[in-house]
Parts: sequence; C-alpha cells; structure tokens
Amino acid sequence: MKEFLFLIIKTIHLNFTDLNLIEPIAKAIQEQGYTNPTPIQERSIPEILQGRDFLGCAQTGTGKTAAFAIPILQNLSKNKPSNRNIKALILTPTRELAIQIEENIQAYGKYLPLKHLVIFGGVKPGNQEAALRKGVDILVATPGRLLDFISQGIISLKNLEIFVLDEADRMLDMGFVHDVKRVIKLLPQRRQTLFFSATMPAEIQKLANSILNNPVKVEVTPVSSTAETINQSVYFVQKEDKLDLLAHILKNDIAESVLVFSRTKHGADKIARKLQKDGISTEAIHGNKSQNARQNALNNFKSGKTRVLVATDIAARGIDIDELRFVINYELSDVSETYVHRIGRTGRAGAEGNSISFVDGLDLLNLKNTEKLIGMKIPIVKDHPFHTDNLVAQKRDSNNKPFTEGSDRSQSQRSGAPRGGNRKPATPGASVGFKKPKNKNFTRKK
Ligand code: AMP
Repeated sequence: MKEFLFLIIKTIHLNFTDLNLIEPIAKAIQEQGYTNPTPIQERSIPEILQGRDFLGCAQTGTGKTAAFAIPILQNLSKNKPSNRNIKALILTPTRELAIQIEENIQAYGKYLPLKHLVIFGGVKPGNQEAALRKGVDILVATPGRLLDFISQGIISLKNLEIFVLDEADRMLDMGFVHDVKRVIKLLPQRRQTLFFSATMPAEIQKLANSILNNPVKVEVTPVSSTAETINQSVYFVQKEDKLDLLAHILKNDIAESVLVFSRTKHGADKIARKLQKDGISTEAIHGNKSQNARQNALNNFKSGKTRVLVATDIAARGIDIDELRFVINYELSDVSETYVHRIGRTGRAGAEGNSISFVDGLDLLNLKNTEKLIGMKIPIVKDHPFHTDNLVAQKRDSNNKPFTEGSDRSQSQRSGAPRGGNRKPATPGASVGFKKPKNKNFTRKK
C-alpha cells in the first residue's frame, strides 16, 4: 500500500450535474434516484472521461460499478457508430458480480444505442455465443468463459479501447490470476485501463503496476470502517434455539426483506425449510444450486417476491440489493473480515443498515475476533425471549458441531489442538442455565 500515494478522498458535495454527463446518461441516473455521486464516482468520472487510467482501492458498496460504467458509456457514445466490435471489456471474478455489472450498465445506458452483454461459465454457451455474433460494444465477463470464447475465435479483443479489471484481489483469492494475465496479454497496448480492488496485497500491486499507465489513484473507505454506518447488534442464544429466534424476529421485529447468512449449504437449506414451514417466504442460495436456481432466487428476493434469502458466503459474493436494510448472521464466520463483507450488503451508499448476529457458544471466539477487527464492541440485545447469559465458549468442528473428542480428528491433528481439549464448560454448570422465554409478547425496542 505504501508504494502508492493514494489520495484519501474527503467528502466533497458535488452533484451529478457538475460532472458534465451527456443528457441520456444524466436522465438514466436521475431515474435511478441518485442525486450525488459517491466519493469514488466524484473522482473517477471526470478522470476516466479524460481518458486517464484509474486505480480504485474500493470494495463493493462504494458505488464503484457506476464509477467506471458511467464514464465508459459516455466515452463510447462519443464514437461514431461502427461495427459492433468489443470496445470495452469488464473482467470480474463471479457470475453474480458479472450479472450485476451488466444490470448497472443496462440501467445507466438505457437511452444509449450501445450494446452490452454478460458472459460467464456454468451455463451452456449457445445463447452467449449467438449474442456475441450479433455484435457487442461492452462485454462483461468472467475469465474462464472469456478465454474459452477467445480460443474458439468467437471473441476478438483487437479493437478494445477500455479494459476494466474488477475485484482484482478476489481474482487472486479465487485462483484466477493466471487467467487474468492470459487475458491481459491479448489486449491491445493502446488502451485505457481501470483497475479496482478492495485490498492491495503485493501481488495485486505488482499486477496493477504492470498494466496501468500513470493512473489516478483513489482509495475509498476501507472495509473495516464501513461497519460504522451500520446499526449492529448481537443476540446471545443457545444453538438449538437459533431457528426459533430467527422465526421470532422475522414475525415480530422485522417486517422487511432480510438476507440471512449461513456458514454451510446444509444449514442454509435447513433454515429455509423452517422459515417456509412458519409461513415466511424464503429461498436459499448456495453452491449446490444451479446457476439458474440461484439467479431466480436472487431475482425473487430483489423484487420482493421472497422476503428472506438465506445465503452462504460464496453464493452471496457481491450480491447487490438496493435498499436492503437487514442482514442476519445466523453464525459468525471464522474469518473476521467475512463479517464486514456480510454486513456490507446493507447500509449501501449511505442508506440505513442493520445487522443482527446470533451468537452461541460456538460463535463466542469469532465474536471476540470480529470485535477486534472492527475496533468496537457490538451491543448485545437481551430483550428477546431466547436470550441466555450462559454461553460456554466452544470450538467448532468442520461439521459445524461442537468439537468433541473424535468429532473432527483430522482437523484437530492438523491444528495441533489437544484432542477433546474443549469439552469442559468454561464455568461449572454453565451449560445448563438456559431460561425459556418469559415474555411471549416481546417486541424489540428500537
Ligand atoms: P457498488 O459499489 O457498485 O456495488 O454499488 C453499491 C450500491 O450503490 C448499488 O446498489 C448502487 O445502485 C448504489 N449506487 C451507486 N451509485 C450511487 C449514487 N451515486 N447514489 C446512490 N446510490 C448509488
């Protein structure tokens, strides 16, 4: 990070009208209900319009998609109409992100004659290929499917003018960096490059240095501080009461759409089944579901057809839902950063956001680590029928169950932990102290 003299943006109060956007784009933005550009947009839009390369250290939720999509649309609309060669390529790691980016391009470019398309793996290539053959100006792609089409001669990048690498650090995490480098080798030397990454590990910095030409560098609020804008709370509950607590909250306290995070696919299905049984419209998305099923579930949730979406972290990557006000962490992740990503699904672009985390004995250690990361204690809400003061810190085994001797031998041996070392309650008698709900008419105080 030190190698870059990132400019930390101060809050300036620009209006979209100050950005000299062409009328069709200004109109489309207005229809989206945006009045002011977000900090990254304030910096990126004028610079990208001038043709500068751009390095944005920003995560999803900062408005970074519009930060590149709007100036790309404006720059390309200046071109004379020509044959439909790919002029802008946006490379992004996941199908969900790719789809969302294209939805954004569609929204901001709805009054422009530019053609755009999204391609990704995991579905049959036929429809994508047919659409490509008709000609595309702006292509949003995941790396594998893009390379497949290139190798078959269906896609050529020789007329490319603008290249966007989105979520570069996640490309690295997901093992796509070699594919990305292969794509980069196929790009024309003369081009504009826009590079976005939430974090800047050394390898990503190196990649950025190698493909950017004197870029404007902008960093917006880092991941661990987005939490400040979100009203966070923790509910202490025994593991066996979590499903009932969830149903209780959804029936009594929250009347709106809620995104629930589950550690496991099996857990996500179980939660969805329970809520459906209780008459709460719910769907689950996770890696075992087909791409179509995931997209349908996401669409149903976005349109309000289903009220609750239960997702695993992988399936929820980059999910972008306007006006989502509630996120519930059914369990806390072992990776503390995941908490910040999860709650970052709400409170987008300055909107009000709320996150509730269920904490049982298995989550206590993760809670401690999460609080350390975000630098604050998350307030505990006790005023609910399933509250317990008697949680016993326990380790989790790989099946999401309390670690006991033999339950997860391989894991304990790998980590060098003493077998069965966590069986004892931290305080004598602590595991038998759960009180059943007293007040059935409980409603959470705001
Ligand atoms: P992104 O960081 O691209 O995932 O965007 C996060 C969310 O902010 C999306 O739901 C966008 O629709 C929304 N958004 C983007 N730009 C603005 C803006 N200028 N004003 C209000 N919301 C915005």
